[in-house]
Amino acid sequence: MSLLPPPPASRLLGDSGLAISPIAWGMWRLTEGGATADQAARRVHAALDAGITLLDTADIYGFGDSGFGAAESLLGEVLRAEPALRQRMVLATKGGIRPPLPYDQSPDYLAQAIDASLQRLGVETIDLWQVHRPDILAHPQEVARALDDAVAAGKIRALGVSNFTVMQTAALNHFLGRKLVASQPEISPLRLACFENGELDQAMMLGLTPLAWSPLGGGRLADPQSPRDKAVAAALDAVARDQGVSRMAAAYGWLMAHPAGIVPIVGSQNPARIAEGMEALKVRWSRQDWYGVLVAARGEALP
Ligand code: NAP
Repeated sequence: MSLLPPPPASRLLGDSGLAISPIAWGMWRLTEGGATADQAARRVHAALDAGITLLDTADIYGFGDSGFGAAESLLGEVLRAEPALRQRMVLATKGGIRPPLPYDQSPDYLAQAIDASLQRLGVETIDLWQVHRPDILAHPQEVARALDDAVAAGKIRALGVSNFTVMQTAALNHFLGRKLVASQPEISPLRLACFENGELDQAMMLGLTPLAWSPLGGGRLADPQSPRDKAVAAALDAVARDQGVSRMAAAYGWLMAHPAGIVPIVGSQNPARIAEGMEALKVRWSRQDWYGVLVAARGEALP
């Protein structure tokens, strides 16, 4: 049986010219449990030493427990203590969520939010800056102008969007001088919307790199409870067992097998589990096994 192509060892982030690992690490949960800078540094090292070079954060991360900006500040502390780490990573962050509004993408606020992220992170440039969630009250032309200005000022190298519909992405991209290079939707074997709603097709059409948030369904795949989650876990386990990897690696690999070149963002804050993400590169999928997971997640056969 022929196999789908393996994921590349390295890939480009859209047409930004930035080389990234085919799997990323995310810091949404970085500040949970009151993590120290030492703990944060161990996680950053675990990712980089394993070869995971795309690191994703956001200005809002930490908001629930440690405050707005806390995750960026903690990463900034790690970078200040060990400045050489900055050169080893492609640094991605996001903005545009402004509690309690909830969203603000007015030009003034965007400029202010980008400057605040740079300051917290203690860096001169953000490699990938993403609009976190769309502000329905912001005209995409105004958003584009603010983001183009930040790129022109050297504050941002490349732009992305997260949680945008296909048309919201198209509208912003239309007005941007420096076009989008990435999108960041929720994609996992438990969240299939992107396979059918055109987002991944648009990513391929525009050359955007899709970054998959919550690739394990927020951890549900590690501890499946519902009949559907258990069926998906069993379909992943069959492949994982055959290939000597964990279910998690199989789940990341399943996303990576998609032709859009999906980059799963590992959400674990456990150094060993972060590093384990790279095991996903070993997994090879047949069409039959790949569709087997999809059908398990759909709960019914494809027509
Ligand atoms: P996830 O990988 O779906 O879930 C991670 C959770 O699963 C962690 O709590 C982790 O706990 C748990 N887990 C349990 N067993 C695990 C195992 N064996 N291996 C790995 N994880 C295991 O991802 P996520 O944290 O929900 O999201 C990943 C990243 O996506 C975030 O950090 C962020 O960068 C991005 N994100 C973006 C948005 C957006 O709106 N753009 C929204 C959500 C997330 P341990 O830490 O104990 O391993």
